[in-house]
Amino acid sequence: MKPTKADLNIYPWGSERRFNSYSSYFRDRWGARVQKVSIDAGFTCPNRDGSKSFGGCTYCRNDAFNPSYCHPSKSVTEQIREGIKFHKWRYNEAVSYLAYFQAYSNTYAPLENLKKLYEEALSYPDVVGLIIGTRPDCVDEEKLHYFKDLSKKCYLAIEYGIESCYNKTLKRINRGHTFEDAVSAIESTSSLGINTGAHFIFGLPGETREEMLAQVDFISDLPIKTVKFHQLQIMKGTPMEIEFRNNPEDFELFEWEEYLDFFISFLERLNPAIVVERFTGEAPPRFLSGEGWGKKRTDQIVNIVEKRLEELNTWQGRLYKDKRQK
Ligand code: SF4
Repeated sequence: MKPTKADLNIYPWGSERRFNSYSSYFRDRWGARVQKVSIDAGFTCPNRDGSKSFGGCTYCRNDAFNPSYCHPSKSVTEQIREGIKFHKWRYNEAVSYLAYFQAYSNTYAPLENLKKLYEEALSYPDVVGLIIGTRPDCVDEEKLHYFKDLSKKCYLAIEYGIESCYNKTLKRINRGHTFEDAVSAIESTSSLGINTGAHFIFGLPGETREEMLAQVDFISDLPIKTVKFHQLQIMKGTPMEIEFRNNPEDFELFEWEEYLDFFISFLERLNPAIVVERFTGEAPPRFLSGEGWGKKRTDQIVNIVEKRLEELNTWQGRLYKDKRQK
């Protein structure tokens, strides 16, 4: 006999999956797969153009994460067209698309210029929304109110690079903002009803594994809808490559099996209301200084994490303590 819903383990996010997954979040919303299409609209960032500093964050190498179809020499429309073609070839089932303004700081321009780019993306057939990656210091009230109005007409998410909850780390990697700046941007965005995401890196210099794990309490308290995590990968040609060469003892880089154990511990403590979009990031080997983890596709990593959660009979938020109930 087929099990009924009551026979199955249904977790707080309403499914049998052992973590609050991004793909399920979108399937619940649209009833079908929705694919992100990346765009490099030619922005820079205040950490590179001298407004905050020159040279950028010490680990930054944006081209390592840009898909091949994505280049600022092409219009937004061209990049979406090529991106859809690329994804149709890989996964035939996507029917709707989200334009993902990914490279650099995608709110770092006057609002009138931004509107043109975003609206060009939204006018493309089958594009149902926008995801906009940026820094906490690249939004202001005027932009946030525009996003609030836009989010009533389409799906809209603002994704902030935060990277660490520790100011000593943010200073060391030359982020040019504090954790408090990030919390303030997140709170201002989320309080307007805009979907808010955050991005973090595990393995940054000077952080111990205990400190990395302890960030889960700060992250769980943020009013974010989605979160992405990456293991630190040291890129060729970055200031961090030199720092690593000179002081390797300051880095606690993860081997794949260690990361898996660490990430499961992290996930067990993470607020179950937060949708987890990524566990890892893999830049192509030609950008990496040193060895990567070998080619592991995102879907393979998701399967491995789910299998490990099942083996340990654990799930996202099993050890989460809601402060309101503490
Ligand atoms: S804020 Fe982003 S784009 Fe700018 S330097 Fe840092 S990682 Fe690179």
